[in-house]
Amino acid sequence: MPYVLGVKILVLVAAYIYVFLMHGPPLNHTALYWLTFVVLIGFNCYIYTQLECEPQRRERVFMVALALDVVAMIYLFFLSSGTQIALLCMLALVIGFYSLVLPVSMGLLIGIGSVLLYVAAVLIQLLQGSYAGYQTDAVASLLLGLAVLVAVTIVMRRIKQGVDDIYSVSDYLAHDLSSQAINAELAIEVLVERNREVQTLLQILENFVAVLDFDQLFENIIHAFRNRFQFDKFTIYLHNTETEHLDLRLESGGQEGTGVARSVRTDYGVVGWCFSHGEGVVINDVANDPRFAEFNPRARRLKSLACQPLIFRGERLGVLCLDSEKANSFDEDTFAFLESVMPLISVAVSNSLHYSIAKEESLTDNLTKLNNHRGFMEKFVALLDTAYCDETPMELIIIDIDKFKGINDTYGHLVGNLVLTELANILREFFRGSDLVARYGGEEFVIVLNGTPPSIAPRIAEQLRRKVEAHQFPISLQRDAFRQVTISLGIASTRDSNLEPEIIRGSRGRDEADVFLRNREELGAQIIDNADQALYAAKNEGRNQVMLSLHFPVNQTDDTIVVADSR
Ligand code: GH3
Ligand code: MG
Ligand code: MG
Repeated sequence: MPYVLGVKILVLVAAYIYVFLMHGPPLNHTALYWLTFVVLIGFNCYIYTQLECEPQRRERVFMVALALDVVAMIYLFFLSSGTQIALLCMLALVIGFYSLVLPVSMGLLIGIGSVLLYVAAVLIQLLQGSYAGYQTDAVASLLLGLAVLVAVTIVMRRIKQGVDDIYSVSDYLAHDLSSQAINAELAIEVLVERNREVQTLLQILENFVAVLDFDQLFENIIHAFRNRFQFDKFTIYLHNTETEHLDLRLESGGQEGTGVARSVRTDYGVVGWCFSHGEGVVINDVANDPRFAEFNPRARRLKSLACQPLIFRGERLGVLCLDSEKANSFDEDTFAFLESVMPLISVAVSNSLHYSIAKEESLTDNLTKLNNHRGFMEKFVALLDTAYCDETPMELIIIDIDKFKGINDTYGHLVGNLVLTELANILREFFRGSDLVARYGGEEFVIVLNGTPPSIAPRIAEQLRRKVEAHQFPISLQRDAFRQVTISLGIASTRDSNLEPEIIRGSRGRDEADVFLRNREELGAQIIDNADQALYAAKNEGRNQVMLSLHFPVNQTDDTIVVADSR
């Protein structure tokens, strides 16, 4: 556009100089002549500065410039009769210029208007007889002028069309490029999203292959989910086949937020619905869903949730739930993703459940259902750690049935088993849940009195001895004959004087101070040995009695209890 404007200004200058040189300054009009020149050039230069302004203002400027141009042309036309062709060329150029910059309809209007003005000017001169040339010249000049006008207009419009085409093509290309860029960006976003999904899947897969511990498994699954979703709480309910309830097995996050039920009926609430229908569900606003049941007042903060049943080989194991305090937290993508990972999670849950059952069985005695030797050792060593680090007292009682071989020999091995089960039941009933009761070996049992002071433990042991002594044990499989069975007991304490616990007080981490027992295995073995020695002494002293470890920390005044110092 600036080039076309430059050409127009040049032509204007040339026309003025041409008229001036060919015909000299018009008489009495010199000042006006140069004034029109200055105004015309000045305004065209002003147009140049306005090319970038907003379209409406630019249009107004162009209209004024056009009016000025046309007035100047007519003025020049009347000044000199020999310059019509030059003026026509200028007029054509001016019209062409404006048809470039103004809308088509307006360009056409201007073109026609200018031509009419030009024709009127020629006619006026002809009628007045002031036209310097011959009439034929005037008509020829008029026709020529019109031809030039039409030709220039057509050429200019063609150029404009070309420019417009270039603009529209470049516009199209720019649009195409930007839409391609947007598509590429979208594709990247989708890829990143897919990548995250694959990573979550891999993490879950890794879990189900490598992790068997239930809590560890879910810590890892929650971690994998957190990378994928926004949620406040993660819960797992497992089907309890005995109570026909779904019991809360795992709860993570949102402690002060959403409340959840500990145990729900398999047909109650969203969890029950999900389990009984064997279908996943996403609820965007729990207030509008009749299936939602408030389990407690804190559940009011819960707004949306996504639940999926855990199903493995057709067996419904439970339900997995994601809760959010915001409405519309879970969309179709969440649902689809959860649905696709649920088979993996279900396998992992099933494996981990079987593993925990197998582990529990491996630590339990088949006959008495008490902890077996392995189970006892594992828990005893762990309890020792707390006892020494928290400085809480702990006592160990070892029990051996007196002359048990005789029972076996007299009534048979199965009756022997019956006696063992009966004694296990007495022990289970006699001791607190916080105490550790185990079958240590054949007909030997062991009890850890957790948190019981050494001064009390011997009395508890004595009470037990009397209870067993008073009990009638079955000596037939039909349970129609009974007899007395006695036990001997040996007691040791974590505070036995021959023990040397190595309690390390230091800082394992940067922030948390740590206390731990370095020689817990040796210490455990020593305590068991102390109790065993006491039991051995009890046997030697005639059985059916309680003996304290030689190193026991409290002197006994109760004469039914004997300290094993007679060895
Ligand atoms: P003591 O008073 O000296 O302890 O005499 P005891 O006969 O009880 O001697 P001991 O402790 O050595 O005998 C243990 C017996 O317990 C030997 C074994 O046959 C029996 N026994 C070990 N395990 C079982 C079991 O699981 N069932 C049965 N019925 N008997 C068992
Ligand atoms: Mg024995
Ligand atoms: Mg025995």
